[in-house]
Amino acid sequence: MEHYTRFASRAAAWALSAAGIALAACGGTSAAPEVRVATPTSAPATATATPAKSSAVAQTTPPPQSCAAFAQSADPFTLRVVDKQRALPSDYRPTDLQAIDDRWAAPGFPGESMRAAAAGAMVEMLAAAQAQGVELRIRSSFRSYAEQQRTFQFWIDQLGEAQARRESAPPGNSEHQLGTTADVISRSVGWELIIPFGETAEGKWLAAHSTEFGFAISYPPDGEAVTGYIYEPWHVRFIGKPCATEWRASGLVLVKFLERLAATR
Ligand SMILES: [Zn+2]
Repeated sequence: MEHYTRFASRAAAWALSAAGIALAACGGTSAAPEVRVATPTSAPATATATPAKSSAVAQTTPPPQSCAAFAQSADPFTLRVVDKQRALPSDYRPTDLQAIDDRWAAPGFPGESMRAAAAGAMVEMLAAAQAQGVELRIRSSFRSYAEQQRTFQFWIDQLGEAQARRESAPPGNSEHQLGTTADVISRSVGWELIIPFGETAEGKWLAAHSTEFGFAISYPPDGEAVTGYIYEPWHVRFIGKPCATEWRASGLVLVKFLERLAATR
């Protein structure tokens, strides 16, 4: 959850990230001091906390097997393109936001929520990672239009509008407003949203396995010309397992995959 009161401390964090490790589409969520000093919580969950398979439900309602079928069953926002040119309505707020247990939150960043399907998939993914000895936690997830507005205005005040637009998503233009997107990060980089996360064991696990749980990494390496954002190895968006599988096979940047999908619907 974003808190405006944290912003003053982010100015200092900005200085640390000034070498191009900007926190682009994530809206300038630089480090708050409490993250650095927080005592890591003990291992939050045991393997027994892994969500049970909903076999009874699965037997009666088979999930869509193809992305096209999933797209038919999903609401329009689940696969909607959101980028610097295509904004969400200012009053869009998912109606099925679900709180995620703080055991999955990065230290200092409790109280996160995502849309129900995304939240379930996220917890399943983090539990699977943990079972393999990989500790991943949520740093930021759903952000309302108003929260993004405050975040963006802060960066305008700090940097001027031109630079702010290079580093932070304007309100309405952030995938975080969808409620299906989260920043997932690790202790090994001090819970910071920094590009070297992609080279950690945790970042590599996320890149390798997130599609198995229905997530796509929106902003890949060398994708800035297409996405307008730097590489964000921590920023994942839930698009459902069938679409995530097909997205990976396509080799396309997510926004291009979603554009192509929309054109065929
Ligand atoms: Zn993000």
